[in-house]
Amino acid sequence: MGNLEKYNFSDFLLSNYRKILEIAKENYSFTDYFNSKNVKEIILRHDIEFSIPIALRMAEIENELDISSTYFIQLHSEFYNPFELENFESIMKIISLGHSIGLHFDVHFWKIKDENELEKYLEIDKSTLEKYFGQEIKVFSFHNTNDLVLSFEKEKYAGMLNVYSRYFKEEVGYCTDSTGYWRYERLEVRIKEAKDNKLQILIHDGMWQDEVLPPRRRIFKIIDERAKYLKKFYDDTLKKFGAKNIDWEEIL
Ligand SMILES: [Zn+2]
Repeated sequence: MGNLEKYNFSDFLLSNYRKILEIAKENYSFTDYFNSKNVKEIILRHDIEFSIPIALRMAEIENELDISSTYFIQLHSEFYNPFELENFESIMKIISLGHSIGLHFDVHFWKIKDENELEKYLEIDKSTLEKYFGQEIKVFSFHNTNDLVLSFEKEKYAGMLNVYSRYFKEEVGYCTDSTGYWRYERLEVRIKEAKDNKLQILIHDGMWQDEVLPPRRRIFKIIDERAKYLKKFYDDTLKKFGAKNIDWEEIL
């Protein structure tokens, strides 16, 4: 068996994302982190890691299915800047489609060593996100968890709900596509079995594409497309301002 079958590459198509959500709707209702109706419920969470455009496509798919979810945004990502115009407007669009935003917090950027530092730096990123997007940020998730991060188990820090609190670890089912394969169980199988009363599903944007690829290639595709976009952006900008765009030879 090759990796194609071993790691279910074909699961990770955006068309299949829609299909999985349709199945989920048959067995579950969708809720957010703050409203529970004591029925079988799914909390759908997106930690945005690689691509705002793909996150937006997912937000549109969910909107078409009448599902709302929470998109957790990074402020210190190497892969995207949430404040550049196109990304900023896409995040505003995600909000306008009825979804919520949270903070995808990077302890490694701040080099956090204890809970006091955690509170301090969460406040900074929370207020930054709130100022730009005009939303109260009520929930956060940790980016790239390690043992220290996972020891922060209180329900709230800096006034925000911690999705890695003891409650979520112990009381809520969890299914994730982290690094592009199913860590525990295939999502489709998990929701068909519908054994969880409450299930948190964690989705990572860039791991879902329009073509069947290994996880590494899915992310490389995003990187290559970004490079292409930036080259065009540079050429277009010089053209727009009537500036010379000098290469080895004249550009036609
Ligand atoms: Zn992350």
